[in-house]
Amino acid sequence: MSVGKTLAIRALGPYGGSAPGYRLTTFLLDGETALDAGCLTDALPLSAQRRVRRIILTHAHFDHIVSLPLLCDNLYGQRRPLEVLAPAVVLATLSRDIFNDRVWPDFTKLPSSARPTVRLHAIAEGKTFRAGSVSVTPFPVLHTVPAFGYVIAKPGRSVVFTGDTRPTDALWAAARRARDLKAIFLELSFSDTQAEVARASGHFTPRLLARDLDKFPARVPIYLYHMKPPSLSRIRREIAALRESRLRLLESERSFRF
Ligand SMILES: [Zn+2]
Ligand SMILES: [Zn+2]
Repeated sequence: MSVGKTLAIRALGPYGGSAPGYRLTTFLLDGETALDAGCLTDALPLSAQRRVRRIILTHAHFDHIVSLPLLCDNLYGQRRPLEVLAPAVVLATLSRDIFNDRVWPDFTKLPSSARPTVRLHAIAEGKTFRAGSVSVTPFPVLHTVPAFGYVIAKPGRSVVFTGDTRPTDALWAAARRARDLKAIFLELSFSDTQAEVARASGHFTPRLLARDLDKFPARVPIYLYHMKPPSLSRIRREIAALRESRLRLLESERSFRF
């Protein structure tokens, strides 16, 4: 895919999108920057995995990182290290709990410390950084573990992407300030019948989202993903009942170009 002026975003589903896969979060920007690593190795052929230069993580939960260790396996020996950008606390979790030579080899030192398979870079709240063709600004969101959402921009266009969060403020304030905002990608995990577990686990339901909608910019589409498969049909009905034209469920692989 050529990296041009437009912003290409592909919502990936495992096995080519044939499985209801949005539990395993991965979005791909311009074919080279992944947002989370839930299903990179299942959704992409090896040739496309090799084009991924960096992964920006929202948080360290399993469904957002599960394909990262497998991707390291597939990229082993590649000339350029894969860059992983995430809050420092997320990187510490990866080092302690995944790349610890017990669960998985420490690919930050393999094949050698000088030329590793993966390099970890800490990013900080409010500090904009460059990620290939886009600039990215992290904002904290509210979940059961530290987590970031991101404003992602190119000249003349921007989008907001967040992984898991419950109702939150800083990211929506940033969304209201963002110039040329084209879309918001937001998790929605549970049906309203599971409001209790949604609250306890730091996730949205349709009703919780409806109460938060005033904080969102007007007229910007909100694409919802991360629905728990057993809740999906209820969530569909509950979202439809809200009669809110901004809300769209992302249920299968989809490519956007802004
Ligand atoms: Zn989570
Ligand atoms: Zn999740």
